[in-house]
Amino acid sequence: MKDDIFIHLCQPDAYKSCGACCGSYNYADSTKESLVGRLKSRTDLFHKTVTRPEDLTGFSEMVKISEDQAKIFEVIYCCEYFGFLDDEERKVGCLLHPHRNKGVDLRESSFYGRELCEGHLCPSYQYLSREEKLALINIITDDWYLYGLCVTDIDLVKSYFRLISERICEMPPPERFRENVLREIALRFFSYKTSWPFRSYATNRFGKYYFDGSEYMIKNINYETLGCEKSRFDSIFRSLSSEFKNVRELKEGEKLIQANIDELARTYERFA
Ligand code: SF4
Ligand code: SF4
Repeated sequence: MKDDIFIHLCQPDAYKSCGACCGSYNYADSTKESLVGRLKSRTDLFHKTVTRPEDLTGFSEMVKISEDQAKIFEVIYCCEYFGFLDDEERKVGCLLHPHRNKGVDLRESSFYGRELCEGHLCPSYQYLSREEKLALINIITDDWYLYGLCVTDIDLVKSYFRLISERICEMPPPERFRENVLREIALRFFSYKTSWPFRSYATNRFGKYYFDGSEYMIKNINYETLGCEKSRFDSIFRSLSSEFKNVRELKEGEKLIQANIDELARTYERFA
């Protein structure tokens, strides 16, 4: 990628994409397994039943009847036109997009309408630096589910690269994350988004947020109750939906994050 090229976070390459703003993670059951099943069946249904714009109403009704509509946050719409874009099911995105429909843009029929869908760029476009964007794209090579969770978690991405940069006195050039050894270490960190041992599984949690009907709030870690100082990894812990039962668990969490940063720094310097 050349320096002057816009970085398309939504569809960065042929091996992954994001669809977080289409409501893909807002189903009450948003595990990868559940989402894959949902997207497979609606994409099949779309191919079988939609041959002209008039078919979209029937498709939309069928999806809404056949799929569980329970949501985490009522205010965010979960779009029924979000599906798999390729046969290998590596890329997710809009089934109404003109690229999918011989140049015909069908997004006018959607909940948000064509203009909103086409023009939307989430805050990650603005707040992640060019290096952070490219590094993340290089680290999460081919997992749309993990990529979408991480690329929209500005705190997580910025906190990690800040800690790494402080440790090695520079932001690693994004190309360095194409090296397997560095990529694997960083990928282990970002994979905590789904495998973090201290994660709350409450269905009203998503990253640092928790939801109550149409309200949402940031779930802070209560250090006073735990009987310790605010952790240096606080923003990472919140992004990972952490729920520590006691200070021993919090210290274990800190050790895991620190170990990852140390390993990445050592490896970076060894292969510099
Ligand atoms: S959440 Fe951001 S990166 Fe993801 S599809 Fe929407 S605009 Fe693109
Ligand atoms: S119509 Fe397409 S782009 Fe718009 S919300 Fe639905 S899936 Fe996303």
